Amino acid sequence: MLTPRMRIPYTGIFSPPAVIPSSASTIPGAVIALQRFLTAASPSGSPGNTTVLTGAGISVASGLSDYRGPHGVYRTKKLEPVFFNKFMSSHQARKRYWSRSFMGWITWNKSKPNATHFALKQLGDLGLIKNVITQNVDSFHTMAHPNIPTTELHGYLRSCVCMSCHTEFPRDAFQDDLARLNPEWASVLGRILASGVLDEDIPERNSKTRDAIGVWINPDGDLHVEGMAEKTFRYPPCPKCLRDPPVLPDGSRAVIKVNADGAFESTGTAGILKPAVVMFGENVHPPVKVAAERIIEETDRLLILGSSLAAYSSWQLAKRAKDRGIPIAMVNIGGARGDSELFGDLNPYQDGHQGVRIDMSTGDVLPVLVDRL
Ligand SMILES: [Zn+2]
Repeated sequence: MLTPRMRIPYTGIFSPPAVIPSSASTIPGAVIALQRFLTAASPSGSPGNTTVLTGAGISVASGLSDYRGPHGVYRTKKLEPVFFNKFMSSHQARKRYWSRSFMGWITWNKSKPNATHFALKQLGDLGLIKNVITQNVDSFHTMAHPNIPTTELHGYLRSCVCMSCHTEFPRDAFQDDLARLNPEWASVLGRILASGVLDEDIPERNSKTRDAIGVWINPDGDLHVEGMAEKTFRYPPCPKCLRDPPVLPDGSRAVIKVNADGAFESTGTAGILKPAVVMFGENVHPPVKVAAERIIEETDRLLILGSSLAAYSSWQLAKRAKDRGIPIAMVNIGGARGDSELFGDLNPYQDGHQGVRIDMSTGDVLPVLVDRL
C-alpha cells in the first residue's frame, strides 16, 4: 500500500509559475532578488542561517537526467522504476534493477558536481548558507562543499546496504562483482563505453544519440539498454551474511543459496543487497526525516533549488517552512507543487527579502549571484 510518506514517482506536470518579484524574469533581476533574499536581516539576528533544499534539477548540468524538467524522463520516456516491495520480494525485480544499475554505474560514477554545487560552496564560504538538504542521491553536494552539512533525504548511491545485517559496502567494489558474474553484459557495456555515446562533454548531442540507440540514464543512476534480457543478469548476496547467515524472526538461521560462481540463488529474503537509496515505494528513513525537520524548524530562510517538490518528503519540508512564516525562495524551471500556496501571498513588487520565485535553471543564476556578492 502506498502512503504519503513514501517516495513515489509523481508523473504530473505543474503549471508554469508566477515569477516573484516580477523583476526576476531576467537573469540580472533574478540575481538581485536572490541577493536581497540571502542578505536580508533575519528574525534570529544570526546572518546566514539559510537552508538550501535541492532536487534533481540541479544535477542536470552534470549530465544526469531530470524527472520532470523540460527533458525529464517522466516527459520523454516510459520510466518504470523498480519499487521497494517488488525489489525485496522478487528475484526477477532485483535482476532487473541491478542489470540497469550495472550498465549505468560507470558513467554515473564519472559524473561530477557542476557550477550550482560550487556556487553553494562559495555561498557557504561567505557565511550565507548553513545547511543543505538534498533529494539527490549523487553525492555531489558532499564532494563540492564538504564543509556545509548535507542531509541526504533519499540516501546515496555510493553504497549498497544489506537488508539483513545493515552493513554498507562501496558500490564501486560491487560493480566488479557484477562484472565477474555477468561477462556478457560486461562486454556489451565495454562496447557502449568505447563508442563514446555516454561521454558527457556535450550532453545535448549525446542525449539524442542515446535515444537513437535506445540507451538512457535515469536520475537514480540506472541505465536502460533496449534489447538486453534482464532475466539473465546475476548478482551476489551480502558476503557477510553468506559467511554467517542471520537469525530469522522465528529463531531459525536463514539459508542463503549461491551457485558455483557465487550468484544469488536463494528464494529467501536474507542477505539481500540494496542500493543505499530510498527506493520508490520506500519511506524516508525516520532519523533522516527527523534531522531534516529539525533543520527546517531552526532555519531563518529556505532556498529551494531544482526541485518541483513533487516528492512528499520535500514538499512536507517546504510546507513546514511556510507554516513557520519564514521567507522561501525557489529557483526551478517550470511549475512546482504548491507554487500558489508557497508564493501566492507575496507582494510581486517587494525586492526579494520576503520571498522569490524564479523560473530558470540554477546554473544560469547561482554562479552570477556568487560573482556579484
Ligand atoms: Zn548482510
